[in-house]
Amino acid sequence: DQDNRKKVFEGLKRQNVEFILAQFVDIHGAPRVKQVPLDSFDDIIDKGAGFAGGAVWGMGMGPESHDLMARTDLETFKQLPWQPNVALASSDLYVDGEAWPFCPRNNLKRMLKIMAEKGYTLNGGFEPEHFLVTRDDQGNLKPWDPLNIDSQPKPCYDFKGMCQSMDYLQDIMRYGNEMGFGIYQSDHEDANGQYEINFDWTNALHASDRLVHFRMMSGQVARKYGAIATFMAKPFENMTGSGAHLHFHVADAVTGKNIFPLAPSEKDWKGLGLSKTAIHYIGGLLKHIRAITAVASPHINCYRRIQSGEFVYSSASGYTWTPSFASYGDNNRTQLFRCPDSNRIEDRSPSSMVNPYLLLAVNIAAGLDGIENQIDPGDAIMGRNIWNLSIQERKELGMILLPQNLMEAVEALEEDDVVKGGLGAIADEYIKLKKGEWGEFMRHVTPWEVRRSLTLL
Ligand code: GLU
Ligand code: MG
Ligand code: MG
Repeated sequence: DQDNRKKVFEGLKRQNVEFILAQFVDIHGAPRVKQVPLDSFDDIIDKGAGFAGGAVWGMGMGPESHDLMARTDLETFKQLPWQPNVALASSDLYVDGEAWPFCPRNNLKRMLKIMAEKGYTLNGGFEPEHFLVTRDDQGNLKPWDPLNIDSQPKPCYDFKGMCQSMDYLQDIMRYGNEMGFGIYQSDHEDANGQYEINFDWTNALHASDRLVHFRMMSGQVARKYGAIATFMAKPFENMTGSGAHLHFHVADAVTGKNIFPLAPSEKDWKGLGLSKTAIHYIGGLLKHIRAITAVASPHINCYRRIQSGEFVYSSASGYTWTPSFASYGDNNRTQLFRCPDSNRIEDRSPSSMVNPYLLLAVNIAAGLDGIENQIDPGDAIMGRNIWNLSIQERKELGMILLPQNLMEAVEALEEDDVVKGGLGAIADEYIKLKKGEWGEFMRHVTPWEVRRSLTLL
């Protein structure tokens, strides 16, 4: 450890790093930082950088609380390619020398430890989508178009749409790779100004760090181009929303071997080439999906993205590509849990606004419940366009509609001890915060409802 510490420090010196950003996330998953000179390297590892916890969302603290100490994780130091005299490091929060249970990163570590005790670990990678936006002369939000000459709707994978932001995307890919993300592709998505970047898998903890660091990087690089990078789930009402699909598998905690593919001796239970354990894990996720949605879609705006296709128009292709119904099955993008191949599952429900530490913690809680109680998710849905099924057909297939607003999801969370267990101390804080958000939202009377109701009767 001392050796490693020395190696990291020497590396930073060699790279002419002068400052460190000791970073953690609040309950929303938003990064909080302090900038400290490199001289404090040992100090922020051993003692941590001090914060007033009462100034941070969801830390269970008030103005009278003791210091929240962010201790940087040695394994996470990364030089910032766009600001090379600075290194960024993920931190875990401590209070009076004890790991603070309200820290989302600590909580995920807690769940990973529980999982490891049962012999498993979780690996994954996010596929974040985001928009580059700016404002027009009236102050309205619009997709970023640097030359302001082409606002014609552009479809997915569009060449011109990509070229409009090619320099930005190249910066992102180059910088991301310098930070070790293993970015392997980027494209223009279903809406003007919307992009998706794909990067490598890693363990659940570092996959979460990576999504947070990715959002930090995009925001800063976009600013250089005079644009805002937004991970808001649905910034435009008539365009597709931004998701952060989660590809994942469960591995053996000791050997690291992926346990999702069927063993040669095992019979293919659901026809997906997945092991019985994998199917049970999905069973747990589906059982708890309503409560998980409170985490996967954490804000009011996220529910505009997962509205049932029955009522919604969206992208240039005519589809939102977003799940509204809880399903699992074959390699088709109308599923919520899609099985592209027997090595992994894609969870298509998370919004780009997700707090990854919280999502992976509840994924573990629900998945372990599935394994331990051998939860059968029912038949896999094969070869069906789920968006086109009738309400009756969906019912027959046992498919439920995801919560269609934040309050519905939060109520499901409140009633779900397994998912709350995955959030630990954060659960009550989260529920309180989300109910507050709902209350605040409901105090707004929109022009739409006035138009609809004023003289209706
Ligand atoms: N934008 C879609 C969503 O909100 C996903 C599109 C895709 O399949 O990549 O989830
Ligand atoms: Mg996409
Ligand atoms: Mg995807």
